[in-house]
Amino acid sequence: MDFNDSPEEAAYRARVRDWLAAHAPAHALAEGVALSDKEQVARGRAWQRALYDGGYAGITLPRALGGQGGTAIEGVIFAEEEARYAVPRGAYTAIGLGMAIPVIGRHGNDEQRARFVEATLKGEIVWCQLFSEPSAGSDLANLRTKAVRDGDDWVVNGQKLWSSWAHEADWGILVVRTDPRLPKHKGLTFFVIDMASPGIDVRPIRQISGASDFNETFLVDLRIPDANRIGAEGEGWACCMTVLMGERLGSGSGSKGRIEPLIDYVAATSGPDTLANEAAQLAFAQALAEERGAKYLEARLRTMVSRGENPGALAGMIKLAYATRQQQALGLAMEWRGYGAIASSGNDPETAALHYDYIWSSVMRIAGGADEVLRNQIAERVLGMPGEVRADKDIPFDQLV
Ligand SMILES: Cc1cc2nc3c(=O)[nH]c(=O)nc-3n(C[C@H](O)[C@H](O)[C@H](O)COP(=O)(O)OP(=O)(O)OC[C@H]3O[C@@H](n4cnc5c(N)ncnc54)[C@H](O)[C@@H]3O)c2cc1C
Repeated sequence: MDFNDSPEEAAYRARVRDWLAAHAPAHALAEGVALSDKEQVARGRAWQRALYDGGYAGITLPRALGGQGGTAIEGVIFAEEEARYAVPRGAYTAIGLGMAIPVIGRHGNDEQRARFVEATLKGEIVWCQLFSEPSAGSDLANLRTKAVRDGDDWVVNGQKLWSSWAHEADWGILVVRTDPRLPKHKGLTFFVIDMASPGIDVRPIRQISGASDFNETFLVDLRIPDANRIGAEGEGWACCMTVLMGERLGSGSGSKGRIEPLIDYVAATSGPDTLANEAAQLAFAQALAEERGAKYLEARLRTMVSRGENPGALAGMIKLAYATRQQQALGLAMEWRGYGAIASSGNDPETAALHYDYIWSSVMRIAGGADEVLRNQIAERVLGMPGEVRADKDIPFDQLV
């Protein structure tokens, strides 16, 4: 594998750089400015619209779906270049681009693709993901929210949890149990739901940071037209796998390198002797090697996807490598900044941002698949090690206690 740009890739990178230089600064947020959730989402929509108009929305998505039909490497190049700007990217755009579009693209019908994909690429639809429940997180197939067919509709009752940005979302991707007589992975069906429908009660969860990025979502006698079912009845688990693959492959996409700027910071603030210290050199060398390793793993798996290969459980490696690396790199940066990093304030936006990112990095060890669960999957499906005991796997769901 050659990690240098080919002439075509270098030309693409140059075009991307020019386009970003002309458009991104107007959408970038000055450091330290606090925005309401509504303002953040409005800015996210505007940036997405600019990308669409510029021909940079859905770079690797096939043209037939409204994307650019570009290569995985073009997607990586764009993400790398975009990461130089503080443009509004967040779960409010990532769920639509990385989860809703792939599942509708793969399991939906033509009418659904025409209705949702382009509008999402244009930033007109903000999505949320309604998967987790109080008794279904790592063990997602244990979910209890149920849907019962009633004429042309399905009637849904249950509770979802940790629904990121559901309070600002226009549509949600939802998985529910439609046949409790089947084993837990088999009786599930997948829908898209209009978040303005009667019967949806979104209640924010207040986080330790003071923000409320995610919610409890109660679904009470919610009616969903059968036309909003994605895939066949009972195909919900396959749809979830497509979503989780998109979520894991997207983890850390275009995230900026942390270690080289840290070395520059240490050189500038602690003097050259610090970097001559063997222990410091070892810590930086190891962190840099691991950060690069995670980046190249991402490029390798994206290349597999662009060739039409299914990375399967390897997608979890991207997420695992990114989340663990990110937390360790930010921890190292916090250490080198000393007490000032802990007591950061609005007077020092750069350190405040580092502090925030450091605290936030711990959630990435859980969201989208916890470390332990991903390690289990890699052990079983990639390394061929013996599987976990799953005594409930083949028992009808309604017979489980
Ligand atoms: C920031 C954030 C945003 C999120 N956004 C969304 C969202 O938008 N929509 C949504 O549906 N969900 C969302 N989630 C939920 C997320 O998917 C779950 O938190 C995750 O799947 C873990 O489930 P859980 O929290 O129920 O933990 P549990 O499954 O209860 O796990 C608790 C601990 O037990 C460990 N564990 C569990 N099973 C095993 C096992 N078999 N072997 C070894 N260890 C195990 C886990 O690794 C973890 O450490 C979000 C979570 C976070 C943190």
